[in-house]
Parts: sequence; structure tokens; C-alpha cells
Amino acid sequence: MIIPEIVYSVVANKCPHCHKGKVFENNNPYSFNNGLKMKTTCSECSLKYEREPGFFYGALYVSYAFSSGIFITLYLLDAIWIHMNTTLLLTLVVSGIIGLYPFSFRWGKAMWLNFFVRYDKKYANQKQNHISVFSSKKTINT
Ligand SMILES: [Zn+2]
Repeated sequence: MIIPEIVYSVVANKCPHCHKGKVFENNNPYSFNNGLKMKTTCSECSLKYEREPGFFYGALYVSYAFSSGIFITLYLLDAIWIHMNTTLLLTLVVSGIIGLYPFSFRWGKAMWLNFFVRYDKKYANQKQNHISVFSSKKTINT
């Protein structure tokens, strides 16, 4: 099943390839020091996260979808059930998008990475060194 693997990788901050190494340095997205800092490679399977320069520009679309989801959810709650005034609704939408930005940023990048890298149990069961899933050659340092 692909979707549970993607959800686990994104929410648990795990490498999409081996589900062991971390994608971001800190599990807390609200950490001011390194909450949004991404590692360059996986510590367990050596997967290089940024496949090419500018690879994560596509994550902006995923992050935009998360922000749109917040807006649409609050709008529908207001239109169907709560009926608050427009100023209060806009305040809630803007504060929700700003307040959840660290999650949107991290989940956007992790989701974008999961679009291109699939979970492989072979790498999860054993520690491998210097294996790139993006090339057909596999080299193991001894
Ligand atoms: Zn990994």
C-alpha cells in the first residue's frame, strides 16, 4: 500500500526510501534553530534528498494545496454551520495559515519527495552505504 507508507513518511519525518533516517534535522517543526532545516542525505540509506538544483520548487504546489485546504475547510465550516462575520473568518484563515506554516512547509517538501521515491523494504531491513536510487549503478564501500 503506497498511501499509508507516504503518510507515515511525511508525518513521522522519515526517509521515504528506508523509513529509518530523518528528512528534517529536528522532529519539532516549531524549533527556531533547525525546525525547517532539511538534511542533504539520509543517514541510513544515503539517499540524496535534493535530486537536482531547484527540485523542491515543486513542493510549493503541495504547500499551496495545504493552505488552500485550510481556507476551504474554514470557509465551508462558516458557510454551513458557524456563520461568523467576514473579518473574523479572514483573521482565522490568515492566522491558521501562518500558524500552520511550519507543518505546511515540511509536509510539502516531504510529500514532494515521496512522489519520486518509493519505500523499499530491502533498504529498511539492512543498513546500506552509498546507494543511490536515482542511478542504475549501486556501489557499496567496503
Ligand atoms: Zn533512507
